[in-house]
Amino acid sequence: LFQPTALLVTGGAGFIGSNFINRFMSLNPGCRVINLDALTYAGNLKNLTGVEQNPNYRFVKGDIADAALVASILAEEKIDAVVHFAAESHVDRSITGPEIFVRTNVLGTQVLLEESRKHWQSGVVPGFRYYQISTDEVYGSLGETGFFTEETPLAANSPYSASKAGADLLVRAYYETFGMPTLISRCSNNYGPYHFPEKLIPLLIANIIARKPLPVYGDGSNVRDWLHVADHGAAIECILKGAKPGSVYNIGGNNEWQNIAIVNLVCDLLDSKLGRQSGENRGLITFVKDRPGHDRRYAIDASKLKKDLGWSPSYTFETGIAETIDWYLANQQWVTEVTSGSYRDYYQQQYGGA
Ligand code: NAD
Repeated sequence: LFQPTALLVTGGAGFIGSNFINRFMSLNPGCRVINLDALTYAGNLKNLTGVEQNPNYRFVKGDIADAALVASILAEEKIDAVVHFAAESHVDRSITGPEIFVRTNVLGTQVLLEESRKHWQSGVVPGFRYYQISTDEVYGSLGETGFFTEETPLAANSPYSASKAGADLLVRAYYETFGMPTLISRCSNNYGPYHFPEKLIPLLIANIIARKPLPVYGDGSNVRDWLHVADHGAAIECILKGAKPGSVYNIGGNNEWQNIAIVNLVCDLLDSKLGRQSGENRGLITFVKDRPGHDRRYAIDASKLKKDLGWSPSYTFETGIAETIDWYLANQQWVTEVTSGSYRDYYQQQYGGA
Protein backbone atom coordinates (compact mmCIF):
# COMPACT_ATOMS: atom_id res chain seq x y z
CA LEU A 1 0.00 0.00 0.00
CA PHE A 2 1.07 3.57 -0.72
CA GLN A 3 1.21 5.54 2.56
CA PRO A 4 1.41 9.30 1.94
CA THR A 5 3.30 11.39 4.52
CA ALA A 6 2.43 14.90 3.25
CA LEU A 7 -0.77 15.50 1.33
CA LEU A 8 -1.64 18.61 -0.67
CA VAL A 9 -5.43 18.82 -0.75
CA THR A 10 -6.88 21.49 -3.06
CA GLY A 11 -10.40 22.82 -2.48
CA GLY A 12 -10.35 21.47 1.07
CA ALA A 13 -12.72 24.20 2.30
CA GLY A 14 -15.52 22.98 0.03
CA PHE A 15 -18.18 20.38 0.69
CA ILE A 16 -16.36 17.15 -0.21
CA GLY A 17 -12.77 18.31 0.41
CA SER A 18 -13.49 19.40 3.98
CA ASN A 19 -15.26 16.15 4.75
CA PHE A 20 -12.27 14.27 3.31
CA ILE A 21 -9.72 16.25 5.38
CA ASN A 22 -11.64 15.80 8.65
CA ARG A 23 -12.00 12.08 8.06
CA PHE A 24 -8.51 11.45 6.69
CA MET A 25 -6.71 13.34 9.47
CA SER A 26 -8.53 11.45 12.20
CA LEU A 27 -7.65 8.10 10.60
CA ASN A 28 -4.08 8.99 9.51
CA PRO A 29 -2.63 11.00 12.42
CA GLY A 30 0.95 10.69 11.10
CA CYS A 31 0.26 12.41 7.78
CA ARG A 32 0.59 16.17 7.23
CA VAL A 33 -2.22 17.83 5.28
CA ILE A 34 -1.84 21.16 3.49
CA ASN A 35 -5.14 22.62 2.32
CA LEU A 36 -4.84 25.04 -0.63
CA ASP A 37 -8.13 26.82 -1.23
CA ALA A 38 -9.02 30.18 -2.80
CA LEU A 39 -12.12 30.53 -0.56
CA THR A 40 -14.56 31.32 -3.35
CA TYR A 41 -18.27 31.61 -2.44
CA ALA A 42 -18.26 27.78 -2.02
CA GLY A 43 -15.31 27.57 0.39
CA ASN A 44 -15.80 27.96 4.12
CA LEU A 45 -13.19 27.46 6.84
CA LYS A 46 -15.98 26.77 9.36
CA ASN A 47 -16.15 23.32 7.75
CA LEU A 48 -12.71 22.60 9.24
CA THR A 49 -12.92 23.58 12.90
CA GLY A 50 -12.18 19.93 13.78
CA VAL A 51 -8.63 20.11 12.40
CA GLU A 52 -7.53 23.75 12.66
CA GLN A 53 -5.69 23.12 15.95
CA ASN A 54 -3.99 19.99 14.65
CA PRO A 55 -0.23 20.73 14.25
CA ASN A 56 -0.17 18.47 11.16
CA TYR A 57 -2.69 20.72 9.40
CA ARG A 58 -1.89 23.91 7.47
CA PHE A 59 -4.22 26.14 5.49
CA VAL A 60 -2.95 28.21 2.55
CA LYS A 61 -5.33 30.68 0.94
CA GLY A 62 -4.52 30.75 -2.76
CA ASP A 63 -5.32 29.85 -6.33
CA ILE A 64 -4.46 26.47 -7.86
CA ALA A 65 -3.60 28.34 -11.09
CA ASP A 66 -0.77 30.19 -9.26
CA ALA A 67 2.17 28.08 -10.44
CA ALA A 68 4.78 29.70 -8.16
CA LEU A 69 2.62 29.15 -5.08
CA VAL A 70 1.89 25.53 -5.98
CA ALA A 71 5.60 24.86 -6.67
CA SER A 72 6.66 26.34 -3.34
CA ILE A 73 4.16 24.26 -1.35
CA LEU A 74 5.17 21.05 -3.14
CA ALA A 75 8.87 21.67 -2.45
CA GLU A 76 8.72 23.12 1.07
CA GLU A 77 6.32 20.53 2.40
CA LYS A 78 7.87 17.59 0.49
CA ILE A 79 4.41 16.69 -0.74
CA ASP A 80 4.10 13.06 -1.81
CA ALA A 81 0.41 13.10 -2.84
CA VAL A 82 -1.82 15.75 -4.40
CA VAL A 83 -5.57 15.20 -4.02
CA HIS A 84 -7.28 17.70 -6.28
CA PHE A 85 -10.86 18.66 -5.33
CA ALA A 86 -10.77 22.40 -6.13
CA ALA A 87 -13.25 23.28 -8.85
CA GLU A 88 -16.16 25.39 -9.87
CA SER A 89 -18.81 22.75 -9.21
CA HIS A 90 -22.31 24.06 -9.89
CA VAL A 91 -23.87 23.15 -13.27
CA ASP A 92 -26.34 26.07 -13.30
CA ARG A 93 -23.55 28.57 -12.75
CA SER A 94 -21.61 27.02 -15.66
CA ILE A 95 -24.54 27.77 -17.97
CA THR A 96 -24.71 31.45 -17.03
CA GLY A 97 -20.91 31.95 -16.77
CA PRO A 98 -18.71 29.23 -18.26
CA GLU A 99 -15.37 31.12 -18.39
CA ILE A 100 -14.45 30.63 -14.75
CA PHE A 101 -15.14 26.89 -15.15
CA VAL A 102 -12.53 26.60 -17.89
CA ARG A 103 -10.09 28.73 -15.96
CA THR A 104 -10.35 26.85 -12.67
CA ASN A 105 -11.20 23.34 -13.81
CA VAL A 106 -9.06 23.08 -16.95
CA LEU A 107 -6.25 25.64 -16.59
CA GLY A 108 -6.03 25.16 -12.80
CA THR A 109 -5.68 21.41 -13.27
CA GLN A 110 -3.00 21.88 -15.93
CA VAL A 111 -0.96 24.09 -13.59
CA LEU A 112 -1.22 21.54 -10.79
CA LEU A 113 -0.25 18.73 -13.15
CA GLU A 114 2.73 20.61 -14.52
CA GLU A 115 4.08 21.64 -11.11
CA SER A 116 3.44 18.10 -9.85
CA ARG A 117 5.39 16.67 -12.78
CA LYS A 118 8.44 18.86 -12.06
CA HIS A 119 8.28 18.05 -8.37
CA TRP A 120 7.87 14.30 -8.99
CA GLN A 121 10.68 14.24 -11.58
CA SER A 122 13.04 16.14 -9.24
CA GLY A 123 13.03 12.96 -7.15
CA VAL A 124 12.88 14.70 -3.75
CA VAL A 125 10.11 12.36 -2.61
CA PRO A 126 10.47 8.58 -2.95
CA GLY A 127 6.87 7.89 -4.01
CA PHE A 128 4.29 10.23 -5.51
CA ARG A 129 0.62 10.21 -6.51
CA TYR A 130 -1.47 12.86 -8.32
CA TYR A 131 -5.17 12.19 -7.69
CA GLN A 132 -7.92 13.90 -9.74
CA ILE A 133 -11.39 14.04 -8.18
CA SER A 134 -13.83 13.82 -11.05
CA THR A 135 -17.51 13.23 -11.61
CA ASP A 136 -19.82 10.80 -13.41
CA GLU A 137 -21.16 13.82 -15.32
CA VAL A 138 -18.20 13.53 -17.74
CA TYR A 139 -19.93 10.46 -19.23
CA GLY A 140 -23.00 12.46 -20.31
CA SER A 141 -26.47 11.00 -19.97
CA LEU A 142 -27.97 7.49 -19.85
CA GLY A 143 -31.32 6.24 -21.16
CA GLU A 144 -33.71 4.20 -19.03
CA THR A 145 -31.25 1.33 -18.63
CA GLY A 146 -27.51 0.69 -18.35
CA PHE A 147 -24.71 2.05 -16.19
CA PHE A 148 -21.56 4.13 -16.62
CA THR A 149 -18.44 1.99 -16.42
CA GLU A 150 -14.84 3.22 -16.54
CA GLU A 151 -14.87 2.31 -20.26
CA THR A 152 -17.87 4.53 -21.11
CA PRO A 153 -16.69 7.24 -23.56
CA LEU A 154 -16.61 10.79 -22.22
CA ALA A 155 -19.60 12.74 -23.61
CA ALA A 156 -20.02 15.79 -21.39
CA ASN A 157 -23.11 17.92 -22.00
CA SER A 158 -22.78 20.98 -19.74
CA PRO A 159 -19.95 23.53 -19.57
CA TYR A 160 -19.26 22.20 -16.04
CA SER A 161 -18.93 18.57 -17.13
CA ALA A 162 -17.01 19.57 -20.28
CA SER A 163 -14.44 21.38 -18.12
CA LYS A 164 -14.15 18.34 -15.82
CA ALA A 165 -13.77 16.03 -18.85
CA GLY A 166 -11.04 18.30 -20.25
CA ALA A 167 -9.21 18.06 -16.93
CA ASP A 168 -9.55 14.26 -16.89
CA LEU A 169 -8.00 14.04 -20.35
CA LEU A 170 -5.07 16.21 -19.26
CA VAL A 171 -4.51 13.87 -16.30
CA ARG A 172 -4.60 10.89 -18.64
CA ALA A 173 -2.09 12.66 -20.90
CA TYR A 174 0.35 13.20 -18.00
CA TYR A 175 0.23 9.46 -17.30
CA GLU A 176 0.56 8.41 -20.95
CA THR A 177 3.14 11.04 -21.93
CA PHE A 178 5.32 11.37 -18.83
CA GLY A 179 4.44 8.22 -16.88
CA MET A 180 3.46 10.42 -13.94
CA PRO A 181 1.65 8.29 -11.30
CA THR A 182 -1.89 9.63 -11.66
CA LEU A 183 -5.28 8.43 -10.42
CA ILE A 184 -8.80 9.51 -11.39
CA SER A 185 -12.09 8.72 -9.69
CA ARG A 186 -15.55 9.62 -10.95
CA CYS A 187 -18.26 9.76 -8.34
CA SER A 188 -22.01 10.14 -8.46
CA ASN A 189 -23.94 12.95 -6.67
CA ASN A 190 -22.90 13.46 -3.05
CA TYR A 191 -25.08 14.50 -0.13
CA GLY A 192 -24.38 15.15 3.54
CA PRO A 193 -23.59 17.96 6.00
CA TYR A 194 -21.88 21.23 4.91
CA HIS A 195 -23.31 21.07 1.39
CA PHE A 196 -23.68 24.57 -0.03
CA PRO A 197 -27.40 25.50 -0.09
CA GLU A 198 -27.55 25.99 -3.89
CA LYS A 199 -27.50 22.17 -4.37
CA LEU A 200 -30.74 20.17 -4.42
CA ILE A 201 -30.95 18.53 -0.99
CA PRO A 202 -29.77 21.46 1.22
CA LEU A 203 -31.83 23.86 -0.92
CA LEU A 204 -34.93 21.79 -0.25
CA ILE A 205 -34.26 21.67 3.49
CA ALA A 206 -33.62 25.42 3.73
CA ASN A 207 -36.72 26.32 1.71
CA ILE A 208 -38.99 23.92 3.57
CA ILE A 209 -37.89 25.38 6.91
CA ALA A 210 -38.61 28.90 5.57
CA ARG A 211 -41.87 27.73 3.85
CA LYS A 212 -40.50 28.96 0.51
CA PRO A 213 -41.37 27.36 -2.88
CA LEU A 214 -39.34 24.25 -3.80
CA PRO A 215 -38.12 24.73 -7.41
CA VAL A 216 -38.03 21.42 -9.34
CA TYR A 217 -36.68 21.32 -12.90
CA GLY A 218 -38.98 20.06 -15.70
CA ASP A 219 -41.30 17.29 -14.52
CA GLY A 220 -38.83 16.10 -11.87
CA SER A 221 -38.27 12.75 -13.55
CA ASN A 222 -34.49 13.11 -14.05
CA VAL A 223 -32.59 10.40 -12.22
CA ARG A 224 -29.48 10.86 -10.07
CA ASP A 225 -27.43 8.31 -8.14
CA TRP A 226 -26.73 9.52 -4.58
CA LEU A 227 -23.81 8.71 -2.25
CA HIS A 228 -23.04 9.99 1.24
CA VAL A 229 -20.03 12.33 1.24
CA ALA A 230 -18.27 10.24 3.93
CA ASP A 231 -18.51 7.14 1.74
CA HIS A 232 -16.93 9.14 -1.10
CA GLY A 233 -14.07 10.12 1.25
CA ALA A 234 -13.54 6.51 2.28
CA ALA A 235 -13.40 5.43 -1.37
CA ILE A 236 -10.84 8.16 -2.17
CA GLU A 237 -8.58 7.00 0.66
CA CYS A 238 -8.86 3.41 -0.58
CA ILE A 239 -7.95 4.40 -4.16
CA LEU A 240 -5.13 6.73 -3.09
CA LYS A 241 -3.45 3.98 -1.09
CA GLY A 242 -4.32 0.90 -3.12
CA ALA A 243 -4.81 1.72 -6.81
CA LYS A 244 -2.23 1.20 -9.54
CA PRO A 245 -0.93 4.42 -11.12
CA GLY A 246 -2.82 5.32 -14.28
CA SER A 247 -6.08 3.81 -13.08
CA VAL A 248 -9.59 5.20 -13.21
CA TYR A 249 -12.34 4.20 -10.78
CA ASN A 250 -16.06 4.90 -10.67
CA ILE A 251 -17.54 5.51 -7.20
CA GLY A 252 -21.24 5.05 -6.47
CA GLY A 253 -23.67 3.35 -4.16
CA ASN A 254 -26.33 1.89 -6.50
CA ASN A 255 -28.82 4.39 -5.22
CA GLU A 256 -30.86 5.88 -8.06
CA TRP A 257 -33.65 8.34 -7.36
CA GLN A 258 -35.87 10.47 -9.54
CA ASN A 259 -35.51 14.10 -8.45
CA ILE A 260 -39.21 14.33 -7.61
CA ALA A 261 -38.96 11.24 -5.37
CA ILE A 262 -36.14 12.87 -3.40
CA VAL A 263 -38.16 16.07 -3.09
CA ASN A 264 -41.15 14.10 -1.79
CA LEU A 265 -38.99 12.14 0.65
CA VAL A 266 -37.38 15.26 2.12
CA CYS A 267 -40.81 16.96 2.33
CA ASP A 268 -42.31 14.01 4.19
CA LEU A 269 -39.39 13.58 6.62
CA LEU A 270 -39.56 17.29 7.43
CA ASP A 271 -43.36 17.19 7.91
CA SER A 272 -42.78 14.95 10.90
CA LYS A 273 -39.52 16.54 12.13
CA LEU A 274 -41.05 20.04 12.06
CA GLY A 275 -44.41 18.91 13.45
CA ARG A 276 -46.28 19.92 10.29
CA GLN A 277 -49.32 18.17 8.83
CA SER A 278 -48.69 15.20 6.58
CA GLY A 279 -48.40 16.46 2.97
CA GLU A 280 -48.00 20.10 4.00
CA ASN A 281 -44.47 20.50 2.66
CA ARG A 282 -45.30 18.86 -0.69
CA GLY A 283 -47.62 21.82 -1.23
CA LEU A 284 -44.48 23.99 -1.64
CA ILE A 285 -43.30 22.11 -4.78
CA THR A 286 -43.11 24.40 -7.84
CA PHE A 287 -42.09 23.03 -11.24
CA VAL A 288 -39.75 25.42 -13.10
CA LYS A 289 -38.53 25.47 -16.73
CA ASP A 290 -36.08 22.63 -17.32
CA ARG A 291 -32.34 23.29 -17.24
CA PRO A 292 -30.97 23.45 -20.84
CA GLY A 293 -29.11 20.26 -21.77
CA HIS A 294 -30.36 18.59 -18.56
CA ASP A 295 -28.94 15.04 -18.44
CA ARG A 296 -31.74 12.45 -18.05
CA ARG A 297 -30.16 9.83 -15.94
CA TYR A 298 -26.85 9.04 -14.21
CA ALA A 299 -26.11 5.60 -12.78
CA ILE A 300 -22.71 4.30 -11.75
CA ASP A 301 -21.31 0.80 -12.02
CA ALA A 302 -18.78 0.75 -9.15
CA SER A 303 -18.03 -2.98 -9.35
CA LYS A 304 -14.36 -2.45 -10.32
CA LEU A 305 -13.73 -0.55 -7.08
CA LYS A 306 -15.46 -3.22 -5.06
CA LYS A 307 -13.63 -6.06 -6.81
CA ASP A 308 -10.11 -4.53 -6.83
CA LEU A 309 -10.07 -2.68 -3.52
CA GLY A 310 -12.95 -4.08 -1.47
CA TRP A 311 -14.76 -0.73 -1.03
CA SER A 312 -18.48 -0.57 -0.44
CA PRO A 313 -20.61 2.21 1.05
CA SER A 314 -21.35 2.17 4.77
CA TYR A 315 -24.43 4.45 4.76
CA THR A 316 -27.87 3.40 3.64
CA PHE A 317 -29.70 6.29 1.99
CA GLU A 318 -32.49 6.16 4.59
CA THR A 319 -30.04 6.68 7.49
CA GLY A 320 -27.86 9.14 5.61
CA ILE A 321 -30.68 11.43 4.53
CA ALA A 322 -32.32 11.47 7.97
CA GLU A 323 -28.95 12.31 9.61
CA THR A 324 -28.31 15.02 7.02
CA ILE A 325 -31.68 16.64 7.67
CA ASP A 326 -30.99 16.56 11.43
CA TRP A 327 -27.60 18.20 10.83
CA TYR A 328 -29.18 21.07 8.87
CA LEU A 329 -31.84 21.56 11.52
CA ALA A 330 -29.15 21.75 14.21
CA ASN A 331 -26.85 24.02 12.14
CA GLN A 332 -29.08 26.81 10.90
CA GLN A 333 -26.41 29.31 11.88
CA TRP A 334 -24.01 27.77 9.33
CA VAL A 335 -26.64 28.05 6.60
CA THR A 336 -27.27 31.71 7.41
CA GLU A 337 -23.55 32.47 7.38
CA VAL A 338 -22.79 30.85 4.03
CA THR A 339 -25.82 32.30 2.25
CA SER A 340 -24.35 35.77 2.03
CA GLY A 341 -25.68 38.73 0.03
CA SER A 342 -23.99 37.59 -3.18
CA TYR A 343 -25.62 34.18 -2.90
CA ARG A 344 -29.04 35.80 -2.47
CA ASP A 345 -28.50 37.80 -5.68
CA TYR A 346 -27.56 34.64 -7.56
CA TYR A 347 -30.64 32.83 -6.23
CA GLN A 348 -32.92 35.66 -7.29
CA GLN A 349 -31.49 35.62 -10.81
CA GLN A 350 -31.78 31.82 -11.09
CA TYR A 351 -35.25 31.24 -9.70
CA GLY A 352 -36.78 34.72 -9.64
CA GLY A 353 -39.46 34.90 -6.98
CA ALA A 354 -39.43 31.11 -6.39
P1 NAD B 1 -17.46 22.89 -3.70
O1 NAD B 1 -17.93 23.86 -4.72
O2 NAD B 1 -18.23 22.70 -2.44
O3 NAD B 1 -15.96 23.23 -3.28
C1 NAD B 1 -14.99 23.65 -4.18
C2 NAD B 1 -13.83 24.27 -3.40
O4 NAD B 1 -12.80 24.65 -4.33
C3 NAD B 1 -14.22 25.53 -2.62
O5 NAD B 1 -13.72 25.46 -1.30
C4 NAD B 1 -13.55 26.66 -3.41
O6 NAD B 1 -13.18 27.74 -2.57
C5 NAD B 1 -12.34 25.94 -3.98
N1 NAD B 1 -11.81 26.60 -5.21
C6 NAD B 1 -12.53 27.00 -6.28
N2 NAD B 1 -11.70 27.58 -7.19
C7 NAD B 1 -10.44 27.51 -6.67
C8 NAD B 1 -9.16 27.92 -7.15
N3 NAD B 1 -9.00 28.51 -8.34
N4 NAD B 1 -8.09 27.68 -6.37
C9 NAD B 1 -8.23 27.08 -5.16
N5 NAD B 1 -9.42 26.70 -4.66
C10 NAD B 1 -10.51 26.89 -5.41
O7 NAD B 1 -17.33 21.50 -4.50
P2 NAD B 1 -17.57 20.01 -3.99
O8 NAD B 1 -19.00 19.67 -4.17
O9 NAD B 1 -16.91 19.82 -2.67
O10 NAD B 1 -16.76 19.22 -5.12
C11 NAD B 1 -15.36 18.94 -4.98
C12 NAD B 1 -14.87 18.17 -6.18
O11 NAD B 1 -15.61 16.96 -6.33
C13 NAD B 1 -15.04 18.93 -7.50
O12 NAD B 1 -13.89 18.69 -8.29
C14 NAD B 1 -16.26 18.29 -8.14
O13 NAD B 1 -16.19 18.36 -9.55
C15 NAD B 1 -16.16 16.88 -7.63
N6 NAD B 1 -17.44 16.12 -7.51
C16 NAD B 1 -18.49 16.65 -6.84
C17 NAD B 1 -19.67 15.92 -6.69
C18 NAD B 1 -20.85 16.46 -5.89
O14 NAD B 1 -21.90 15.81 -5.84
N7 NAD B 1 -20.74 17.60 -5.22
C19 NAD B 1 -19.75 14.64 -7.22
C20 NAD B 1 -18.66 14.11 -7.91
C21 NAD B 1 -17.49 14.87 -8.04
